[in-house]
Formats: sequence, C-alpha cells, structure tokens
Amino acid sequence: MPSRYSYESSEGDPHSGSPNPFASFANASSTNTNKTQEGEKKPCRACMDFKTWRKQQAKSSKQTGSASGVDSTQQHSPSNCPLDKDQLGQHTWGFLHTVAAYYPDKPSSDQQKDMSTFFTLLSKFYPCEVCATDLAEQLKVRPPATSSQSSLSQWLCWLHNGVNEKLGKPLFDCTKVNERWRDGWSDGSCDY
Ligand SMILES: Cc1cc2nc3c(=O)[nH]c(=O)nc-3n(C[C@H](O)[C@H](O)[C@H](O)COP(=O)(O)OP(=O)(O)OC[C@H]3O[C@@H](n4cnc5c(N)ncnc54)[C@H](O)[C@@H]3O)c2cc1C
Repeated sequence: MPSRYSYESSEGDPHSGSPNPFASFANASSTNTNKTQEGEKKPCRACMDFKTWRKQQAKSSKQTGSASGVDSTQQHSPSNCPLDKDQLGQHTWGFLHTVAAYYPDKPSSDQQKDMSTFFTLLSKFYPCEVCATDLAEQLKVRPPATSSQSSLSQWLCWLHNGVNEKLGKPLFDCTKVNERWRDGWSDGSCDY
C-alpha cells in the first residue's frame, strides 16, 4: 500500500501549475518531519506532544540561532498556534464522539456506508501518522458498527479506549458515553 506521504497526483506535480491541496501530507516523511517549501526538514507538530516538539525546535533554533519566544514551562501550543498531537486528539475525539452522538437511530444503508467511508478516510488523512496507522489497523480488527446511534457510539468508545490503553490512560466507562457526549451527566452538572 503506498504511504500517504508519497501521495502523487497531477495536482501535486510541480510542473502542473496547480497547488496540491494535500501538500503537507505529501511532504511529510515517516520520521515525523515535514519539509518547508525551501526543502528544509521541520518536525511535524501534529505528530508529537508539545514538549517533544519544543525540544526539537530548541535543537534546530540552536543551529539557526533563532528564539521562539514561547514560555518554556508551557504544556501545550498556545491557542492561536498550530495544534500539537494532544490538542489535535482532544478536538478530534470531541468531534467524533459528537458525530456518533447525533448519528440516526435508524440510518439508511447509504448513511451506514458513508459513515464507514468517513472513518476509512480519516485513517488516510489524519495528520499524526502513528495515530493514523494505528486507526487503520483497528478498523481492520473491528470495522465501525454503523447500524445505529447506540452501536456507533459504543464502537467509538471501544476505539478510543484502545488508544487510552495503549497510552496508559484510564479506560472510559462506555455505559456513560451518551451522558458525556449527548445528554449531559445525570447529576445535572451540565444543565445550566
Ligand atoms: C483516532 C485517534 C488516534 C490516536 N492515536 C494516538 C496514538 O496512537 N498515540 C498518541 O500518542 N496519541 C494518539 N491520539 C491522541 C490521544 O488519543 C489523545 O487525544 C491525547 O493523548 C490527549 O489525551 P487527553 O487525555 O487529553 O484526552 P483524550 O483521550 O483526547 O479524550 C478527550 C475526552 O474524551 C473523553 N473520553 C476518554 N475516553 C473516552 C472513550 N473511550 N469514549 C468516550 N469518551 C472518552 C474524556 O472525557 C476525555 O476528557 C489519537 C487520537 C485520535 C483521534
């Protein structure tokens, strides 16, 4: 299977005159770097946590003599800067769980097919390569359960718990997935 990072199309051909909309994917290498237009390698920010990215930046700014101006104790990218891996993960999970929360109870066969395609495409274009590779593997192990809102939300909870487990994080109680992402907690703490 060709790597996302060797994406080729006539749109991406430097001689075709039209910009490749997936240039950032095409230019990134499998070692968590991507290239600037000048061909210089830059760490892929969405592929690593902020601390790791900062370390890599510090190394390259020593080489170039530039300073970042970001507080060295900061845990995440400032809010108006490109997302680091964890910020991207938090936002993406929020989006995915909310999509699942509002998925129809009785989807048509087209909706079911489209939802499966949506996750396949996500695994091809998710900017953190290690995450995307892992997602593609999980989709083979257990394809999206698209037959209802409940099945999709439970499947996504399972998927997210797989990543939680891999990262040594606590597992989420999947019986609470609709409280977390659709209805609000039963203690009323979200009913303001
Ligand atoms: C598809 C995908 C694959 C990823 N793969 C990797 C990877 O391989 N390596 C890596 O380092 N990072 C990966 N990430 C990022 C990682 O999952 C986290 O998003 C990141 O580490 C930040 O974690 P967090 O503790 O802030 O909360 P997150 O894990 O981002 O969770 C956000 C919120 O979701 C809720 N939640 C947690 N678990 C569940 C669940 N099972 N079901 C429903 N709700 C839940 C909690 O309320 C939590 O606060 C991936 C992200 C995505 C979207």
